[in-house]
Amino acid sequence: MSTLQHIVSCMDGYDPNALQVDKAREVIRSFLTPVTETERLPVRQALGRVLAEDIVSTMNVPAHDNSAMDGYALRHADLAAGANEDGATALKVIGTAFAGKAFGGVPASGECVRVMTGAVMPAGCDTVVIQEIVKADDDTALIPPGQKHGQNRRFAGEDLALGKVVLKAGQALRPAELGLIASLGTGEVTVRRRLRVAFFSTGDELVSIGTPLAEGQLYDSNRYTLWGMLARLDVEIIDLGVVPDNPQRLGAAFRDAASRADAVITSGGVSVGEADFTRKLLGDMGEVLFWKIAMKPGRPMAFGKIGKAHFFGLPGNPVAVMVTFYQFVREALLHLSGRSDDTTLPLLRVTCASIIKKSPGRTEYVRGRLTRNAAGEWQVAITGSQGSGVLRSMSEANCFIVLGHEQGSVKPGDALSVQVFDGLI
Ligand code: AMP
Ligand code: MG
Repeated sequence: MSTLQHIVSCMDGYDPNALQVDKAREVIRSFLTPVTETERLPVRQALGRVLAEDIVSTMNVPAHDNSAMDGYALRHADLAAGANEDGATALKVIGTAFAGKAFGGVPASGECVRVMTGAVMPAGCDTVVIQEIVKADDDTALIPPGQKHGQNRRFAGEDLALGKVVLKAGQALRPAELGLIASLGTGEVTVRRRLRVAFFSTGDELVSIGTPLAEGQLYDSNRYTLWGMLARLDVEIIDLGVVPDNPQRLGAAFRDAASRADAVITSGGVSVGEADFTRKLLGDMGEVLFWKIAMKPGRPMAFGKIGKAHFFGLPGNPVAVMVTFYQFVREALLHLSGRSDDTTLPLLRVTCASIIKKSPGRTEYVRGRLTRNAAGEWQVAITGSQGSGVLRSMSEANCFIVLGHEQGSVKPGDALSVQVFDGLI
């Protein structure tokens, strides 16, 4: 593993005092060492975890060709051969196949079998005609013309084919993946162990809830926001509380965090007034870079390693904590957890309904609200005050409006990019 200094010295356009968002992501990405330990878990407990091995199908799913509809299974070749004057074909009904209870016989030419959805296709039959269009009594089915060869039939292995890789190592297990694994009859899977993430807040002015506030103090909200964001990522969380701006106490907290976790996240202590203090403190504990990122909110940030732990020093302002977490830390933690698929948050284009003032030269993450206009189309407006200390702007939002580095001001009717907070799965 090369050092951070080495990585950034080889990088074009690296300027720690005006670092573009993409460059910061690039540095972070090239300096991550994912967890390798694994554990074996029952399928349901593996929800949200990262698969540690490829899952290869040990069988065909479905195991047999079967009917996709309730109707009549037949040999398509019989239809053309036996058509009467209005094009319909009369076939003899010789039995019924149910889901889970196959028809044992072999229909001869001119015969058909009544089938239910999911029933194994009777031997020799290749086509299913839905019951709604068939005139039938107990013995005979009159099949109208125009039936396509092979229609309404599901093939063995069309969902999962024997011997094929069904899921790749490095993929997260979502509800669909749990179902796929279960459909192979597999009860346990091997996943990466959970990433351990320790975090604490820094600041002499901060008080934990339960203690009355003195003048100039405020309650530590970042630890709650951070806890919530981490809980959603399925990592193991180590909450180390509030640490005052005191070298001994901070040094002890950093050492404790680094010895217990794969990643350490702090809030506060990296802004212009405090960075030198933190920099000095961390100087001999690892390798940490201090950045002023060309973004709003979230300009100051520190990144590196303390001992073996990855370190993310986030700004103290409550909105900046959330923005830097989602723009840098989330993806890094997913990668550290072993994810090897693309975890980039999608940017969706929608119509703007507000005036947003912006100068080129930094990336802005404006808190937005996606709503439908009178025509039912989605549009986005900004949520009230956008100060980086106004956490309410996040609570009222359901998306980030992402205004790129080169982008200027935006007016109603312009197209812009958003990152939606809620995902379906
Ligand atoms: P700092 O980055 O430490 O200079 O903090 C920037 C601003 O964020 C200051 O106004 C802090 O009081 C505020 N702040 C820092 N940490 C927290 C926290 N844990 N909860 C709420 N506000 C905070
Ligand atoms: Mg502070």
